[in-house]
Amino acid sequence: MSKISPEYLENEIAAEIFMKAVDQSPIAISITDKKANILYINEAFTEVTGYTDAEILGKNESELSYKSTPREVYKELWRTISRKQIWHGHLVNKKKQGERYLAELMISPMLNKMGEISHYIGMHRDVTNTHQAEQQLNNQKKLIESVINASPVAMVVLDNSYQIILDNKMYKTLISQLNHHVPALFFIHALQQEFGDLWANSTLLTHGFSHHEIRVESMGGQRGTRWFSCSGNWFSEENTGADNFFLKQSKDYLLLSICDVTFQRQQQEKLQLQTLQSMMVEEEHIRSIRETLLGAMHQMRLPLNQVNAAVQIMAQRNDSQNVPLKMLLTQVQQMGEDALNTLQRCVPEIPESAVMPVNLNQLLHQVIRLFSHKFLSNGIIVDWLPNSILPSILGSDNKLRMLFKQLIDNAVDAMNRASSRERIIKIGTSVENDWVCVTIADTGSGIPINQHSKVFEPFFTTQTMGGFQAGMGLVMAREIINQHDGMIEIDANYTNGCCFNLRFPVCSKMRGENDE
Ligand code: FAD
Repeated sequence: MSKISPEYLENEIAAEIFMKAVDQSPIAISITDKKANILYINEAFTEVTGYTDAEILGKNESELSYKSTPREVYKELWRTISRKQIWHGHLVNKKKQGERYLAELMISPMLNKMGEISHYIGMHRDVTNTHQAEQQLNNQKKLIESVINASPVAMVVLDNSYQIILDNKMYKTLISQLNHHVPALFFIHALQQEFGDLWANSTLLTHGFSHHEIRVESMGGQRGTRWFSCSGNWFSEENTGADNFFLKQSKDYLLLSICDVTFQRQQQEKLQLQTLQSMMVEEEHIRSIRETLLGAMHQMRLPLNQVNAAVQIMAQRNDSQNVPLKMLLTQVQQMGEDALNTLQRCVPEIPESAVMPVNLNQLLHQVIRLFSHKFLSNGIIVDWLPNSILPSILGSDNKLRMLFKQLIDNAVDAMNRASSRERIIKIGTSVENDWVCVTIADTGSGIPINQHSKVFEPFFTTQTMGGFQAGMGLVMAREIINQHDGMIEIDANYTNGCCFNLRFPVCSKMRGENDE
């Protein structure tokens, strides 16, 4: 009222308009004397309370009380308005028919010319439904929160800048267990090594990902490997801002679930190890047959080459006197080739296995465990230095296992041959850009630098031919590496023995989808 000029108020038509505005206001308005006795009500007051003018005028506002609002609220109400201040709050009211409703009420004191309270004006609306909806929403939120909290799976909701919006109890447990301030970021980083940027991968955004397993090597001061199965789903939430009323805007969130599957994987690994142990005996058998046959073929090839050379020389000389000898040599040559072909057919093949994503930490750890007896009986200490998290590579686990077994076997032999005092084999993994790197270093006799490339040639051995050494192990190793698009080299700067550096391309299957 104070904003209307006195001249304007003096105008009778304007006063009438003002009165009409109050009368027809959608908010229930009442004007009382200083003791809350009602002097005026508008139409909306009747609509809300059910009382007509005749029924309520002259009566006290307390008529509306349902008598369940705490006394303290009324005390505070009167304390406020008596100090000439506006009170705003909620009261439980009763309609004429006795029906209870929640009133959102504002009481404002009206002052006379002397600045004293002359009247009070009350404005209220029935907010029972709004309150009910709010309560229902709150209850739903609490229900969802308690269901999420009761889940044995760690859950976290992240926005597109990886800010955590919501998490559950299990996730908080993970913070202390992994001793990582934001475990979600740790897992996101691991997932991104395989999927690339999660928010840029349209396939992921639409379909999410499920049960993607992440192997974590000793972390947060805890020793031992742990496995986590991660699933991710994206969902959109409508913006709640006022501008969203006409122009719909939404924001995407990622719900990341992290389930600790360590126990299951440990059991699985135990079983797998038992199977591998029996398979290893079989593989060892095949390998020794292969090496024996290839070695024998190599030995036969040398004299046969001489015979071939002799036949060629005789053919060039066209010497008629030596025709019987020439025929004999040709016969020997043919028989030799036939024998070699027969032997070649007898060389057993390295068993093929399906190409799939392989975690080299897991595979190497398996091989180390398979070798544990050998290490123990040879007094060898194994220094296992895995990268905390390793992206998968695409490969045949069978062949890769054979590769690492060969390199570790070589290392053990080299340390035994050199009678090294310090018998340590260091096996480590790391990630460099899009490569998974493996290092196998021993404290054995080492390989002279001028033989670094020769050792990968067939039948080359650094040993004097005392025991039977076919010199085919590193040939096989290189072959397996090549089949995996990898690389192998001997570290020229390593002086404590021999150190093999291997690298394999990170499994790019999932990234491929992302890059499109
Ligand atoms: P009390 O709180 O003890 O009040 C009884 C009566 O004593 C009051 O109604 C009032 O007439 C008088 N009184 C108490 N304290 C003072 C004081 N400090 N100064 C002057 N007189 C006082 N209450 C509701 O429950 N619902 C409403 O919708 C509602 N609307 C109101 C609108 C206005 C404009 C005002 C001024 C008050 C309103 N009240 C309302 C408060 C209401 O007047 C009562 O205080 C309240 O209902 C509690 O009543 P009670 O009978 O339990 O007793």
